[in-house]
Amino acid sequence: MKFKNDVVIGLEIHVELNTKTKLFCSCPTQGSEEPNTRVCPICLGHPGSKPKVNKKAIEYSAKLATALNCKIAKELIFSRKSYFYPDMSKNFQITQYEQPLGEDGFIELGKNKIRIKRVHMEEDPAALIHPGGIGIAKYVLVDYNRSGNPLCEVVTEPDLSSPEEARDFMKSLITILRYLGIFDPEKNIVKADANVSIKEKGYVRAEIKNITGFREIERALAYEIERQKHSDVKQETRSWDAEKGITSSLRTKETEEDYGYIFDPDLVPIEIDTSWLKKLKSEIPEMPEKKSKRYVKEYKIAADDAFVITNEFSLTEIFEKAVKKVDPVLAARWIRRELIRILNYNKIDPGEMKLNKEQFISLLVLLKQKKITDNTAQKVLEKLVVEDIDVQKYIAENKLEAVSDSGVIDTYCKEAIAENPKAVEDYKAGNENSLNFIVGQVMRKSKGKADARDVKERIRKIIK
Ligand code: ZN
Ligand code: MN
Repeated sequence: MKFKNDVVIGLEIHVELNTKTKLFCSCPTQGSEEPNTRVCPICLGHPGSKPKVNKKAIEYSAKLATALNCKIAKELIFSRKSYFYPDMSKNFQITQYEQPLGEDGFIELGKNKIRIKRVHMEEDPAALIHPGGIGIAKYVLVDYNRSGNPLCEVVTEPDLSSPEEARDFMKSLITILRYLGIFDPEKNIVKADANVSIKEKGYVRAEIKNITGFREIERALAYEIERQKHSDVKQETRSWDAEKGITSSLRTKETEEDYGYIFDPDLVPIEIDTSWLKKLKSEIPEMPEKKSKRYVKEYKIAADDAFVITNEFSLTEIFEKAVKKVDPVLAARWIRRELIRILNYNKIDPGEMKLNKEQFISLLVLLKQKKITDNTAQKVLEKLVVEDIDVQKYIAENKLEAVSDSGVIDTYCKEAIAENPKAVEDYKAGNENSLNFIVGQVMRKSKGKADARDVKERIRKIIK
């Protein structure tokens, strides 16, 4: 095999689609968490039950394949993937094999193009529950609520060359899913299997199963690469234990042929109508790259601010709401600088934040009206990121309104000048830092509720 990178990674990502009902029956995908209550003969896999395809799921999958720049098949064909395991009572999973819905696509990651080999539709198996934990449990419970949920499997070519790049790919895919409105991160799950091999060991690849989310993918791959460097690598399937932070051998790798795929005789091929596909393409919303360019042009915000905001769906949501109430440059600055800084500090990913958008915007409005200072806004935002507070109430209760009474500020300034004659002298001698020191004293007196720039000007005038 010829690869140009020392580390070679390919991903198979299962995305759960946000449809109301399951892929081949009308059971709801969300609702009761009581095991085995959202089930019917079809998703329980009873013999003789007849699957019918969910049109919404086809639509969502075709949108995804299109957004990933894939060629779309002319016909939708389902096959049975045979295997024996308690999560699939009918002993086969309905999936697509010979002809996937989408092929030959790509995602652009900065300068790199990550090729997408295929995008296909399939049903989710049931969930297995091991009471007390896997390896400890004496029996296993099966919950079919999840069985039959619609999945899209996205398979990349082995084009990724580091754990960080794999994470960025996952993030980018999730952003696309959110832009398309076919995925809800609060309800739906993205799971990845990763193939990884390294040059040092002759590119013998191991597959790591069931990695949930983009943070885990980076951790799992970083561990696995290190493991491969220091041990014999054989072709096998390994599992990722997020808690222990290690991968361990599950079984030696089976090949796709072992699954004995056959066309599903219950599901006739469905022709993909070109006019339907055309209409679908026209419904695909503006994607991050285009949106970013538009933000710069329309709102005159900095290009790198626009890039960061549009690459995170939740941030574009806030930004687009905010620009209706405040200056876009102010909104962009507060999202890009302050919000992201505070999220990083709290180790919260923007895609997973629970920020109350309305409250964030009212904070910006108060800031714009100069009812609070930058300093106060930062402190309130720090609180708002971790707790859903009513910003106006919080500011009133904690008496955080800016001191805009110029009489009061002047009094503080005069006091500070009188109390610090040495600093005043130094400032007069040309030391600008001394002026900042006096400003600091005034800010302290006002408990951070005065506007620092305004204070500076006032002190200059008084001393002069
Ligand atoms: Zn069902
Ligand atoms: Mn699959």
